[in-house]
Amino acid sequence: MGAMKPLKILVDRDLCAACDICRETAPNTFEIDAEAKARVKNPEGDPRETILKGAEGCPMTAITVLDGDSGAKLYPV
Ligand code: SF4
Repeated sequence: MGAMKPLKILVDRDLCAACDICRETAPNTFEIDAEAKARVKNPEGDPRETILKGAEGCPMTAITVLDGDSGAKLYPV
């Protein structure tokens, strides 16, 4: 079995309220930029479970996570 492609992580910046929960949960994946919006700095920065926890913790449901290989939506489901 080949290596899995990185998760495809999308942040809706219009929805992001800069609460910092995603970055606190998965600090090697998400960062808050100079515009006070979350963005992905490394889609492989943390274990997949951790990245999904970060997405699930977003109070604005601003983060969508897709499987990198199949494109299947992993969150929100
Ligand atoms: S958890 Fe959601 S609202 Fe909070 S900073 Fe991350 S993307 Fe923005």
